[in-house]
Amino acid sequence: MADHEHDGEEPPGTRFLLYPQAPFLDPSQAPELIEVSSPQGSVGPGPSNDRMYTVAPIGKPVSYGQHQNRRGETFMFLPPWQGETHEPAYPDEQGNFDYIDPSDPAFEAAHLFASAHFTMDVWEGYFGRPIPWHFRNDYDRLELTMLPTLDNALIGWGFLETGGTTKYGGEYRAYSMNFDVVAHEIGHAIIYNEVGIPSPEKASGEYYGFHESAADLVALISVLHFGSVVEDVLNNTHGNLYAFNKLNRFAELSHNEQIRLAANTDVLSQFVNGWSDEHLLAQPLTGAMFDILIDVYHERLLLRGLISPEMEDLSDRLETSPVYGDRMQSLFDERYNEDPEGFRVALLEARDYLGSYLADAWQLLDPDYLSYYGVGQALEEVDRQITGGEFLPIIRGNFLTREIGLYTPGPKIEKKGVESHSASVRTMVPMRE
Ligand SMILES: [Zn+2]
Repeated sequence: MADHEHDGEEPPGTRFLLYPQAPFLDPSQAPELIEVSSPQGSVGPGPSNDRMYTVAPIGKPVSYGQHQNRRGETFMFLPPWQGETHEPAYPDEQGNFDYIDPSDPAFEAAHLFASAHFTMDVWEGYFGRPIPWHFRNDYDRLELTMLPTLDNALIGWGFLETGGTTKYGGEYRAYSMNFDVVAHEIGHAIIYNEVGIPSPEKASGEYYGFHESAADLVALISVLHFGSVVEDVLNNTHGNLYAFNKLNRFAELSHNEQIRLAANTDVLSQFVNGWSDEHLLAQPLTGAMFDILIDVYHERLLLRGLISPEMEDLSDRLETSPVYGDRMQSLFDERYNEDPEGFRVALLEARDYLGSYLADAWQLLDPDYLSYYGVGQALEEVDRQITGGEFLPIIRGNFLTREIGLYTPGPKIEKKGVESHSASVRTMVPMRE
């Protein structure tokens, strides 16, 4: 179960089955029963509610967004979809959708809706208020739409459109079934609203890298709200999450793609001569944030007496010599077996620190001339307000390790075949690779 709790006053939320990790990436995994915040009975066929609605169009020729006609003129194709649609997903008598079997054709629509809604719930929790849509002047609701011929997922003006890919042995893999992908796109929507869009002549390369990084972090924090993901990570490491970033063993330690992506070792000097793909430029910033998450988790473990200061010392020495790795792991094996629940709570606390710090910091950012260094400054400001600066060494240290503030990325190098957000600032039709 997701760790959403009821105080008995709130009406129960609407139930769905959700895969924390796309079933084709991890076939052994069962979908998790989750609740979204919309009360039972308030989600209609589609699914749909007052903020978003799902459609599976029949005969939709192209994706939403900017296109060219035969005369080479550009035009915008935007929601709502007016044509025919496949049968929607219907709620049961109590208003829930968890009765729909993954083999049912309507499951995909329910999964897409639940992924978007779950992500919004998580982040509205960190913002402490509703997050408006950036396109609210034109649309009240987000159209969640599926286009199987589209090998992409993208969010734009009034829509989140998901396609799928057949590049894995011809089997069709719908992106709507991949929680990370949907959560990532919702992350872009959050940033468009909360940070905004730079004026074109003031758009830095780092703005685009930041957008991708933030979208990945939205997905990462959201996926850590699945009980099964947290359990998987802790059981595989026995709580030694330094194994992710200091021992480089993350591939075998997590089944989750988003976690593997965040546990990287990229630094900013790799981009001093220029960059061509904002998803790669995003990696040093995402890596810094992941390391902050791990360090805050260790602080919580220390505070709760779950690890000793000697273990913390040992972890520092891991930076220079991995021979301490085995010693460290056996200490964790011992401690974790004594109190696995304590480790779980510490991880959830660290997750929520990072989630709320990010939400607060993003609101301080100016999209014009945005820099990673400025993101670090905003985080430090938030920390000064919340803890009086308790995490400043962690924030500074991890930003410096990624060489943020030491180097500035070079210019954008146009490369054929690399999809870009750059052309889309004005059109607001970001693409996702
Ligand atoms: Zn993206």
